[in-house]
Amino acid sequence: MKILVVEDEKGLAEALGEILRIEGYSVELAFDGKIGLEKALTGKFDCMILDIMLPFMNGLDVLSCIRVKGMDMPVLLLTAKSEVEDKINGLDCGADDYLTKPFETGELLARIRAIARRLNQVPDINPKFGDITLDLKKFELICGNNTVVLGRKEFRMMEILISNTGNIVTKENFVNEIWENSDDSAYNNVEVYISFLRKKLNLIHSKVQIKTRRGIGYCLEV
Ligand code: CA
Repeated sequence: MKILVVEDEKGLAEALGEILRIEGYSVELAFDGKIGLEKALTGKFDCMILDIMLPFMNGLDVLSCIRVKGMDMPVLLLTAKSEVEDKINGLDCGADDYLTKPFETGELLARIRAIARRLNQVPDINPKFGDITLDLKKFELICGNNTVVLGRKEFRMMEILISNTGNIVTKENFVNEIWENSDDSAYNNVEVYISFLRKKLNLIHSKVQIKTRRGIGYCLEV
């Protein structure tokens, strides 16, 4: 990840650069707002750490400029004072996060890691089958405009069913994957949870059905 640090206190900027490089990030520094803006507009950075009080052009103006140009790179603002107004202005201008000086290195790195995680997110990895989608983050089963929340076990079962479409999933598969002990009650629970899932599929008006293969297991069909 390439990070642009715009900070006029050279000692601080260089220390930040050093810390970030040790963590494996690639870093460029700018010591005033104008140069910072020029560098940001090259589009080669994944994120920017931006001080507010800067010579020639302040951080909030830099931020407004890049947002006006349609650039959506994450920006972490550094505020010298803990004044609430600075933070509100910064967030209004399109900052993603802010940090009040003086800050702990660990805190800064945590914020940068959070940004990196957001950037690495693959947009749509939610499993699909027929007319249903399983939302992995919200634990929801979706069909068109209809949505239903799944319990943890229901969710895991549906995940297993979708990832095995075309095959039969045995009760034993479910028990091994989901239940901690594999006694009779776990096997009975599989049936109970399958009936919950069928009700939820009906609730969202899906054409997908969970078919029972007597004595073998279950599979999804449209
Ligand atoms: Ca400054």
